[in-house]
Amino acid sequence: MMVNVSYEFVVDAMLGDLAKWLRILGKSTFYDPQAEDEKLLLVAKLNGAVLLTRDRGLYFKAVSQGVEALYLGELELDETLIKLNKTYGLRLEVDLFDTRCPLCNGRLIRKNREDVEEKVPAEVVSRYNVFLVCENCGHVYWPGSHLRRMREFLSRLKQRF
Ligand SMILES: [Zn+2]
Repeated sequence: MMVNVSYEFVVDAMLGDLAKWLRILGKSTFYDPQAEDEKLLLVAKLNGAVLLTRDRGLYFKAVSQGVEALYLGELELDETLIKLNKTYGLRLEVDLFDTRCPLCNGRLIRKNREDVEEKVPAEVVSRYNVFLVCENCGHVYWPGSHLRRMREFLSRLKQRF
């Protein structure tokens, strides 16, 4: 676990996909499927973060402790993202200058081809000019088909507004 990180959102163990999306959309998000309710509540409290949960019991516990929480019930991912956009102004756009590692929440730093040459396959290096490297775990990302699909998904969401 990283030290000295502040979180904007805390999500429960059932919301792993949402955690990845929030991180990619630039939101510092605590997600640990092993964490007990008490831990989630504590992290949310210490950070002034919003707790997102599908667990009604956890939601009421949060509210009773003065932790800001949003109960997501059975909302699908797309509905959840729209709700977070409306409630907290979540930006429904991937900004490569403000994005985080979906695996560990570390900030992604833009790097040039020369910086990542030794870490990614040669055919990838030759195809892209910009790479993103996680400052925490070192994972290297590049703007390939996965990013394109995410952007398509987000633009479909925005058409519903
Ligand atoms: Zn990482």
